[in-house]
Amino acid sequence: MDDLQRAAQLLSQAKNAVAFTGAGISTASGIPDFRSHGSGLWNGVDPLAVASIFGFRQNPQAFYNWIRPLARILATAQPNAAHYALATLEQQGLLHAVITQNIDMLHERVGNKVIFELHGHLREATCTHCFAVYPAEPIINQFLCDGQVPRCPGCNGVIKPNVILFGEQLPFAEFHAAQEAARQADLMVIIGSSLEVAPASDIPLLAARNGARLIVLNLEPTPADVFAHIVIRANAAEVLPEIVNCLETTA
Ligand code: NAD
Repeated sequence: MDDLQRAAQLLSQAKNAVAFTGAGISTASGIPDFRSHGSGLWNGVDPLAVASIFGFRQNPQAFYNWIRPLARILATAQPNAAHYALATLEQQGLLHAVITQNIDMLHERVGNKVIFELHGHLREATCTHCFAVYPAEPIINQFLCDGQVPRCPGCNGVIKPNVILFGEQLPFAEFHAAQEAARQADLMVIIGSSLEVAPASDIPLLAARNGARLIVLNLEPTPADVFAHIVIRANAAEVLPEIVNCLETTA
C-alpha cells in the first residue's frame, strides 16, 4: 500500500479528522507563499518592517506598497483542486473542520462550513482610530486603483485589513475554537505549512499530544514530520484529489 492509500485509509477510519492548512495549499491558485525560494513574499523585505503591527503604525504606506502585488493576485485568485478536495471530504463527513492560517478565504469559496481563520481574512477592514468595520472588497479595489493608504470615511483614520500582523494577538474566539478542535481530533492533515509561525504552529503538536495521528503533506520538511504517521512531499493540488479518489474507489 502506498502513502496515498494509507492516508485514505486513515481518513476513512478517523472519527474526527481536521485539516490544518497554510499558504502552500493556495500556491496552485497562483498565490505565492511566504517562504518558498524565488516566489516567497519575504524575498528582499524585512518582515518586521512591513508586516508587523509596529511597522504598520509607523509607516502604513510601506505595508500597503508591500501587500499591493499580493492584493492584486488575491482579488482574482480561484480555488484549486486541493481546496475542492477538502470540501469533498467535509461533504462526505470525513473532515470535521479546517483550521487555516490563510487569509485568502478560498476554503469558504469552495463550500467548507467549519473553518477557523487563525490569521484573519480579507472579508473586512477596520479603522485603526475609531474601529469602524467596513467590507474590505471596495476598499481593496480602490487601493489597487490609486495605491493610497485607505482612510476611514468617518474619522480619516488609517484602515487596516482584518489580517493578523506580526506582534498582534490572534483572534481569541477563533484560536480557542481551533485549539478545541485540535484537542478533539483523532487525525490531523497538515497541508502546505512550514509550521514556522507561532502560536498557530503549536496546533498540530497540541493535536498530536492529545492522541491524534498526523499526516503531513508539504513540499519541504516541517518540524511536525518527526511526529507524523505519514509524510508526503508533493504538490497538495495533485495529491489531495488522488487521496479522495482512493477513498471513493475503496468505498
Ligand atoms: P509558509 O510560506 O511559511 O510555508 C508554506 C509551505 O508550503 C512551505 O513549506 C512550502 O514548501 C509548502 N508548499 C508550497 N507550495 C506547496 C504545494 N503546492 N503543495 C504542498 N506544499 C507546498 O506559509 P505558512 O506556514 O502558511 O505560514 C506563513 C503565513 O503565511 C501565514 O500566517 C499565512 O497567513 C500567510 N500567508 C497566507 C497566504 C494565503 O492566504 N494564501 C499567502 C501567503 C502567506
